[in-house]
Amino acid sequence: MKVVKTIKEVREIVGGWRQEGLSVGLVPTMGYLHEGHQSLIKKSASQNDRTVVSVFVNPIQFGPNEDLEAYPRDLNRDIKAVEEAGGDLIFNPEPSEMYPGHFTSFIDTTETTELLCGAVRPVHFRGVCTVVGKLFNIVTPDRAYFGQKDAQQLATIRRFVRDLNFPLEIIACPIVREDDGLAKSSRNTYLNAEERQAALILSKSLKKGKEAIESGEKDAKTIIAIIKNSLQSEPLARIDYVEVVDFENIQRVDKIEGETLVAIAVYIGKTRLIDNFIIGTNHS
Ligand code: AMP
Repeated sequence: MKVVKTIKEVREIVGGWRQEGLSVGLVPTMGYLHEGHQSLIKKSASQNDRTVVSVFVNPIQFGPNEDLEAYPRDLNRDIKAVEEAGGDLIFNPEPSEMYPGHFTSFIDTTETTELLCGAVRPVHFRGVCTVVGKLFNIVTPDRAYFGQKDAQQLATIRRFVRDLNFPLEIIACPIVREDDGLAKSSRNTYLNAEERQAALILSKSLKKGKEAIESGEKDAKTIIAIIKNSLQSEPLARIDYVEVVDFENIQRVDKIEGETLVAIAVYIGKTRLIDNFIIGTNHS
């Protein structure tokens, strides 16, 4: 397992693999890796001869009042996690390597980024799509792996890969949770003991929404109300959004039909957490 910091080194290593006829998987991350990330790395290792994991806290996807500085970082811990999961190379560039002076080109998307996190984090998806597009061009993977945890991100990346003809396959991976139901996230480290307990309200409330759908409820407004009511029972929780959307175009639906994403963002104290479920296929 190697760690490199420059685009040149990644290209040389991947170029060598290509000459040997090996396939390459890419797992883009912001580091502070947990079992959710490891599930993506394991999936990639099972489907490709070599797996590259990028560890990069991408400054351009954070808004001015977001947690760029506070975001947890620990490369030694990440090296162990990647090794354990079967990754072959970590690409850990400095921001100056990815964004040399006077950087002015971006991948901008519409439709899938209008609602949910796109509505409340205006520069977020432009930053995500730009860095992911750059990583695709740097690593040139056959397949890239993304978690359903960030469902809007997944739908948006699928779309721009299709729209802009990036020659690779996007593989979606299910949400990995703690034993008590909380979706694993690097941001869970911000929570104190009381907040950690309160954060269970996200998965519990989604479960109530899912149960209502499974008992035949199809009306999006009713499902949103059930989830909101449940979230409001937790004094430490402040709702950012609760939405029911089509999973392909991330536009609101009135009725649950086809592949539907039920997504929430909730502040627990100062920490903003997201969670979701997808109904209509074999998603978690
Ligand atoms: P991040 O480091 O938060 O940018 O996440 C990197 C990738 O790991 C993204 O594709 C996420 O969707 C995925 N991921 C993060 N948390 C989880 C989780 N709990 N389960 C599955 N995938 C996850």
